[in-house]
Amino acid sequence: MRCPFCKNDDTKVIDSRVADEGQAIRRRRSCVECGRRFSTVESAVLAVVKRNGVTEPFSREKVMRGVRRACQGRHVAEDALAKLAQQVEDTVRASGSAEIPSNEVGLAILGPLRDLDEVAYLRFASVYRSFDSVEDFQREIDDLRTAHGGVRAEAVSAEPVQSS
Ligand SMILES: [Zn+2]
Repeated sequence: MRCPFCKNDDTKVIDSRVADEGQAIRRRRSCVECGRRFSTVESAVLAVVKRNGVTEPFSREKVMRGVRRACQGRHVAEDALAKLAQQVEDTVRASGSAEIPSNEVGLAILGPLRDLDEVAYLRFASVYRSFDSVEDFQREIDDLRTAHGGVRAEAVSAEPVQSS
């Protein structure tokens, strides 16, 4: 690791610690040449490949933003969103691939979101699966009915769906 001050290539690690709940290692380094100290953060790169081929780093915050929008007006707590984002990250990391297509991130969101809030799930699924007809919604609602024995299906079908 090159010293950012004098550009010398010879630096030594004086301290290493785990950061970001085990997702990263933070190192304190000291330059052998000029003696100045600096920090580096190393983390395994998990890239999301978008439909247009552009890659960007996986971001829990971004997952939360997308889900938060679908949860508008629903009583979903911030820490539930944070937990969901963590679940999504665990799922995509478990795939063992360093590059994840964005639709797989969407897929990883659907399961836990369905458990969290069915209306938010329908909204999110409508965008993610690009529902383009009432029949698509009906099919999804029928699936939810089957999954829950019809108990909570009325509340789901009565809710207007927001497309923003
Ligand atoms: Zn230096």
